[in-house]
Amino acid sequence: MPLTDRFNHRVDYMRISVTDRCNERCLYCLPHEQVAWLPRGEILAFEEILRVARVAAGLGIVKFRITGGEPLVRRDVVPFIGGLNEIPGVSDIGLTTNATLLAPLAERLRANGVRRLNVSMDTLRPDRYAAISQRAMLREAVEGLDAARAAGFPQIKLNMVLMRGKNDDEVLEMIEFAREKSVVLRFIEMMPVSTTEVLTEANFMPVGEVMRLVRARHGELASEPGCQGNGPATYYTVPGLACRDGRPLLIGFIGALTNRHFCETCNKIRLTSDGKLRPCLGSHGEFDLKRVLRQPDATDTALRAVFMETIAGKPEQHEFRDNYQPGRRMTAIGG
Ligand code: SAM
Repeated sequence: MPLTDRFNHRVDYMRISVTDRCNERCLYCLPHEQVAWLPRGEILAFEEILRVARVAAGLGIVKFRITGGEPLVRRDVVPFIGGLNEIPGVSDIGLTTNATLLAPLAERLRANGVRRLNVSMDTLRPDRYAAISQRAMLREAVEGLDAARAAGFPQIKLNMVLMRGKNDDEVLEMIEFAREKSVVLRFIEMMPVSTTEVLTEANFMPVGEVMRLVRARHGELASEPGCQGNGPATYYTVPGLACRDGRPLLIGFIGALTNRHFCETCNKIRLTSDGKLRPCLGSHGEFDLKRVLRQPDATDTALRAVFMETIAGKPEQHEFRDNYQPGRRMTAIGG
């Protein structure tokens, strides 16, 4: 029996944040330089996460994405992913990364079961990259992306968070870059996660505006409903616009604030780095799996009960449009 929530959404996907730590300080995510990381003991050990994943897979949650913080800063993340890949039933593993540490790890990540790779890249200009991420590492990120392309991941997506006044004039350049690198490109509206101050009327750029820019330059967009993955993006191609490898360029739009139907296809829950299950990124509910997990006689039945409670607690819609006040940093929840 597939797992479904109250609104009959099938839930078969879990994002796992393996760390709240990050080697960047993106303005919209970790805006403050002085960051107090969670104490190590609060973070789930990899053995604990694997146990949770086994329980999840037994319930029908068979697709996973590893994220953070920056997942590649955590030591032994590659063998952990290898362990995840060995769990019976696990059908898909993705990784979201800023790619700055990816180059030396790309082949091993692929060999250990990562299929889908999402690389966050908001700008192609070194000075802007340094200003947005507060670290001058564009070169490393592009090297990481190239290493990933060479390692043969079946799917690589580039994620660009839209920021008026910071990268809004790079939309068309980013399209050329994605074509050149033969990767899927996704434009993401900024969301009020981490702190409220990151999102203002002045710096918000809606995905509809990007669509208009793309149409004006390249012509009509063709909807590609068949490309709907596990994420909330809606995908389009542009007739005649192909990647260097000959495949059509796929462009995704994640309109968390402007797309009214954003939550209708949601199939996921999140495991935070400190062991909370969250039914939704954009509402406060979370369920304390770690407390149950760390009881000396914790049974899988007890863990399953927390999963069921979490899925029952999935809201119909996120609350981002309702003056949402985030309670936790995105890095701890997992982007
Ligand atoms: N460090 C990894 C990375 O950079 O991809 C993984 C974690 S990061 C939190 C995951 C994704 O969340 C990134 O693509 C990032 O751009 C996105 N993100 C973080 N804060 C955001 C915000 N306020 N609005 C929209 N996307 C955000």
